Amino acid sequence: MPDAEIIAIGSELLTPQKIDTNSLYLTDQLNALGVEVVRKTVVGDERERLMDTILGAVARSQIIVLTGGLGPTEDDLTRDAVASALGRAMVFRQDICDQIEERFRRFQRKMVEINRRQAYIVDGAEVLTNDRGTAPGQWIEQNSTVLMLLPGPPNELKSMFEKECLPRLQRLLPPQVIHTLMLRVVGMPESDLDQLIAPVYLRYPNLATTILAVSGEIHIHLRARSADAAQAEALIAEVAAQIEPLIGDRIYSRNGDSLEKVVGDLLRARHAHLSVAESATAGLLGGRITAVPNSSDYFLGGFLAYSDRMKTKLLGVPPEMLIEHTAVSEPVAKAMAEGAKERTGSDYALSITGYAGPEGENVGLVFIGLATPHGSEARRVQFPGDRERVRAFSTNIALDLLRRNLSA
Ligand code: ATP
Repeated sequence: MPDAEIIAIGSELLTPQKIDTNSLYLTDQLNALGVEVVRKTVVGDERERLMDTILGAVARSQIIVLTGGLGPTEDDLTRDAVASALGRAMVFRQDICDQIEERFRRFQRKMVEINRRQAYIVDGAEVLTNDRGTAPGQWIEQNSTVLMLLPGPPNELKSMFEKECLPRLQRLLPPQVIHTLMLRVVGMPESDLDQLIAPVYLRYPNLATTILAVSGEIHIHLRARSADAAQAEALIAEVAAQIEPLIGDRIYSRNGDSLEKVVGDLLRARHAHLSVAESATAGLLGGRITAVPNSSDYFLGGFLAYSDRMKTKLLGVPPEMLIEHTAVSEPVAKAMAEGAKERTGSDYALSITGYAGPEGENVGLVFIGLATPHGSEARRVQFPGDRERVRAFSTNIALDLLRRNLSA
């Protein structure tokens, strides 16, 4: 299977204001065909650098996708640079010029002279229709390399890629089946997880394994490609069967479901109801739980008890307990959860109280409380990191505490 590289062209993509999103879209599309993207380059509107990038790409990759720089102005250099790099001439195509002129007429505008530049193509290129804009794309085959010149505006690029490039690529590439599995893990650091499972996945070089840390969780992506669907599926199953026992119940989903969705499904299955009492996170936990559609099946509501006074007034936490232990303590976390459970009439309640920082003593110290029909408990956690992370990670630990209790 050939490898691909993407060249995103445009000086604005080298500023802090603009991100190259086209290459993310293209990577997704190419991966779905079984093609790996092995290199991405962002290059400004500068002829020498662009030529240099194209020459390098042609020397090493079989599929090259270029985006941007097909406009009519002086700084739109892609056509020229590709022609020079391949040693081909530029050819004026009257039919393309007529189409551009016709497009202008349709929008009651007159084509200006510089738009004629867009009617030049690299000698031997196939023209790719642009149904969303004026700049046509180009498909160029040179020896065993394919170059695609696509417009920069994302809506034009997507439409052209799907309608013009995909069918050509499908004809060119051997049929591939891609089978994937995502395991979502909570409650362990990325490095520990990698140490645990690397000895397994390293033995399977034909399986792509990606480990991503996503706001306090880890997502393990396993991807197998093969000409044969059963073979790809069997390979994933073989590796998963070895990895899963190593991580155990820290895996909370195998189908892409979020932690809040998994917890919600467990509550629904038991016909149980949940409430929350939040201090440090002040609504983040409730926000996550209710981001899941139909969460009203199991979520009753909660308390945003930020000050000591509100912990007493809303949740019935005794003032003397707050004085003796402080608001960030195990007894207060438990009392908050118990108060929420009692005052809402829910079966379960979660609480979060902690020091989110960034200043002060004990930054990152958080207590998570859980009240259940069988009693209550609290967990002490010490997070590193900044305020945003402490708050976000606390909601993970809280949801996971409930998940484990419900799955026990
Ligand atoms: P045009 O005919 O509009 O000039 P073009 O092919 O020359 O098209 P550019 O001028 O490079 O494309 O970019 C046009 C628009 O598309 C700009 O708003 C630009 O920011 C956006 N764009 C270009 N490249 C990318 C990219 N890689 N990712 C996201 N947006 C992009």
